[in-house]
Amino acid sequence: MQDIKDLDLKNLEREFLALGAKPYHARQVFSWLYKRGVWDFNYMSDIPQALRGKLADRFYILGFKLLKHLESRDGTRKILLGTKDNNSIESVLIPANSRVTGCLSSQVGCKYGCSFCASGMLGFKRNLTAGEIIEEVIYLKDNALENRLTHLVFMGTGEPMDNYENVIKAIRIINSSAGLNIGARRITISTNGIIPGIERLSSEGLQLELSVSLHAATDELRSSLMPVNKSYPLSELIQACKEYSLKTHRQVTFEYILIKGLNSSLRDAEGLFRLLKDFKLAKVNLIPSNHIPELEFEPASKNSVDIFKDYLVKSRINVTLRKERGEDINAACGQLRLNYAKN
Ligand code: SAH
Repeated sequence: MQDIKDLDLKNLEREFLALGAKPYHARQVFSWLYKRGVWDFNYMSDIPQALRGKLADRFYILGFKLLKHLESRDGTRKILLGTKDNNSIESVLIPANSRVTGCLSSQVGCKYGCSFCASGMLGFKRNLTAGEIIEEVIYLKDNALENRLTHLVFMGTGEPMDNYENVIKAIRIINSSAGLNIGARRITISTNGIIPGIERLSSEGLQLELSVSLHAATDELRSSLMPVNKSYPLSELIQACKEYSLKTHRQVTFEYILIKGLNSSLRDAEGLFRLLKDFKLAKVNLIPSNHIPELEFEPASKNSVDIFKDYLVKSRINVTLRKERGEDINAACGQLRLNYAKN
């Protein structure tokens, strides 16, 4: 049995031909799946009965089990999904004003071991398939008010650049007008700074948003927080991001978690300014860090967050402050999965 969501429309048409069916039925099935949200071949009323049977023998549509569903006081919803091979992944739904953002995982676990992040604590298991990534989107959409899901961010568990092919394949289906039709500009890939991935992404011809998790302005500090920095140090990373923005004419967002006593002083802000001062299309997104009991890091105080932000504003760096969401439901990356595994 194969996950039908692993096939884009072209490949599905090919499969239909091989089954002796007309390719236009593939388009109809695609529409049942992604436009009408029908998850059972039996209900696809314009597909001939015999073909429905063949499809059900050959493909499955949904493979996850819903293990847990948590809703925060602020409306953030977090779902824990069980895969066919008994792994678990988390996805989050974040309604904010007119936007409803889905936060997607790209891998089961993570290899990169960033010291402030819960995702790497259980190690790395495997990549998610394109079909599984699409299924996260389907579950989130199903759980959203009036099925309204406007934006997607790859900021759940895993490193999307380390699962490049499947992530891009899923995005193409999610983005396509025959598929879920979510605009590329509303889809963000967040990376820990894997330069070859950034370079490759610049040639895809997709208008995706790129976010880079920076979190420190010196190599010494960044390498201690994010071991990946030893392979892709700051100067090369910033250069790759500049080339990305030159080539795609897109802004690059740098994510910066503010951790108490570590990276949130005025000196750190000055370092960040020096790093980005001649990068026109850069934006800094400051994140008050989530407290994770298993890790020793504490969030920076509100006062130091304000001082840090004001310095960047005055230095004419484009900066925003992310509001904390879903703290009461373990919405920090990997937290729910971690708690689930411990119980
Ligand atoms: N591997 C990718 C995507 C997953 S992390 C990346 O590194 O970007 C998604 C975002 O959540 C990153 O910016 C990450 O640094 C941030 N994050 C991880 N742990 C956090 C914590 N404890 N508090 C706040 N943000 C955190």
